[in-house]
Amino acid sequence: MKTIGLLGGMSWESTLGYYRSINQGIKNALGGLHSAEIVLYSVDFDPVEKMLSLGDWDGVAESLSLAAESVEAAGADFLLLCTNTMHMIADQIQDSLGIPLLHIADATAESLVDQEIERVGLLGTALTMEQDFYRQRLQDMYGIETLIPDMEERRFVHEVIFQELCLGTVNTASKRQYLQIIQRLAEKGARGVILGCTEIGMLVKQQDTRVRLFDTTAIHAEKAVDYALT
Ligand code: GLU
Repeated sequence: MKTIGLLGGMSWESTLGYYRSINQGIKNALGGLHSAEIVLYSVDFDPVEKMLSLGDWDGVAESLSLAAESVEAAGADFLLLCTNTMHMIADQIQDSLGIPLLHIADATAESLVDQEIERVGLLGTALTMEQDFYRQRLQDMYGIETLIPDMEERRFVHEVIFQELCLGTVNTASKRQYLQIIQRLAEKGARGVILGCTEIGMLVKQQDTRVRLFDTTAIHAEKAVDYALT
């Protein structure tokens, strides 16, 4: 079994989901008392988020690359960056490493391709929904078109992530609004919706809607399990 490197803490609430899913996946595959070999570096999110809101991407890239290098030095065979948004600088982190980084958008796209979905809705932070690094990758590498909510809805989705979910708050009114936004994306032609932020699965679950959901935390964790076992 390969050793899985996790660069988490963004937020720690969602890193818990990775830890649980990965161990559960290894247990399901190998049985008995088996669990995953994991090296986890969990950052203090506050200073990272402050750099992010100042647009200091060089600072973010430098500190996350250093953390990623520690994960490699501690024996990880590959790395998962446990956040969608920070994949904005995935290439810089990969350049600092000798081990592969399994990109969250690739893992998600593979799931979409398996289900023959060519048009999908995307929920996430403002950066993930609005910048090119995620949507363009899905389009250019996999031919998948993404639909995003309108501006007001995007603002709401983003605020719930940072003001509620990253702080561990799961709010029923927010959940209702998320489900309406998901429904509207489906009405606009999305054949599924990507939960493109690693905390959204805390709020919205597949049993809450008939729209097919693609939870990036679960998908990324499953990819790690498969990769660790091959
Ligand atoms: N965990 C989040 C994501 O998947 C957002 C927090 C962050 O900015 O990293 O995008």
